[in-house]
Amino acid sequence: MDEVVDALRAEKRVLITCHVKPDGDALGCLIALHRAMQQLGADSVMYLADTEAIAPEFSWLGGLGEAIIGSPPDDAAARTLVTVDCGSAERIGNEVLVEKAPRTINIDHHADNTRFGDINLVMGASSSTAEILYSILNKLGVEITTEIGEALYTGILVDSGRFQYSSASAQTFRVAAELISGGVDHAAIFHHVYETVPLAKTRLLCRLLTNMTIACDGKLAIGVIGRNDFELAGAGNGLTEGLVDNLRAIEGVQVAALIYARPAGALEPGQKNRNEPLYRVSLRSSSETLDVQRIAKAKSGGGHRQAAGFTAAGETPEQIIAYLTESVSGIICQD
Ligand code: AMP
Ligand code: MN
Ligand code: MN
Repeated sequence: MDEVVDALRAEKRVLITCHVKPDGDALGCLIALHRAMQQLGADSVMYLADTEAIAPEFSWLGGLGEAIIGSPPDDAAARTLVTVDCGSAERIGNEVLVEKAPRTINIDHHADNTRFGDINLVMGASSSTAEILYSILNKLGVEITTEIGEALYTGILVDSGRFQYSSASAQTFRVAAELISGGVDHAAIFHHVYETVPLAKTRLLCRLLTNMTIACDGKLAIGVIGRNDFELAGAGNGLTEGLVDNLRAIEGVQVAALIYARPAGALEPGQKNRNEPLYRVSLRSSSETLDVQRIAKAKSGGGHRQAAGFTAAGETPEQIIAYLTESVSGIICQD
């Protein structure tokens, strides 16, 4: 941590980025660190490789949209790359950046982080990268403005499962308490993130629950959202965040999976041509003892023990369901 703090204090030009399909932790850290570096007098640029829309529950975050760039700056080779909440160079969505950067600082909480940076601060037991970043910013003497506080609180809130996952530690609650003491309006953030669900997203949820597959004696729940579901629900691509949690919440379910189509667009890693079917898979487990990261890793994905994901190119939902049923039946608890 001290090495990262010293390095950031000395930085004059940084390029900050996070993982593709950014969630509240990734976006919150992106904004918080950007503002912090500006406070320290550095020239800071935020970059996001993802061309998909930012999930609407995070679009209210101050500092978003205004300054995030979708292609690397011309002077990327002269900027220290700082990645937040990003488990590997590939997850940036533009691996070349790490090669180009004179140096990379990697701040993350994914236990499977590949340590692709020159300095790697990986704290696998932390609820969120935002929780780690809060300590870093304090050590840097950065003033936690409302904008920074809200961004960090959002990251902690979503990644700790609203403070309910086992990764939510006493330290997580302490950081949240300090942010709230500093003026963060937690009720307003809760409302923004969880109670402004677009109707189209609710319709998408309705479709996936209606058609879900229950396997392994009720211990595995799988939902599929195809392109036609997006169309019939009138939903765009940013509307899948959090839907998988509804499957894990079902009584008796130990592993939940959401398989959802990606639009035909830029060629993705592993995809032979643009028309090849492409699905993202979100995996969740109900306990620390059920490691879904391994199931994702076997398909070149990754994540955490209880929340992981992978992308499947050229496979039908039925094939993915077969893979999941087989691998999950090997890890679920037999009682
Ligand atoms: P998601 O299901 O997209 O919310 O992701 C759950 C967790 O798995 C997050 O920590 C992600 O960073 C991680 N993850 C999702 N997809 C991938 C992937 N293709 N490769 C590595 N990690 C992933
Ligand atoms: Mn994340
Ligand atoms: Mn995270």
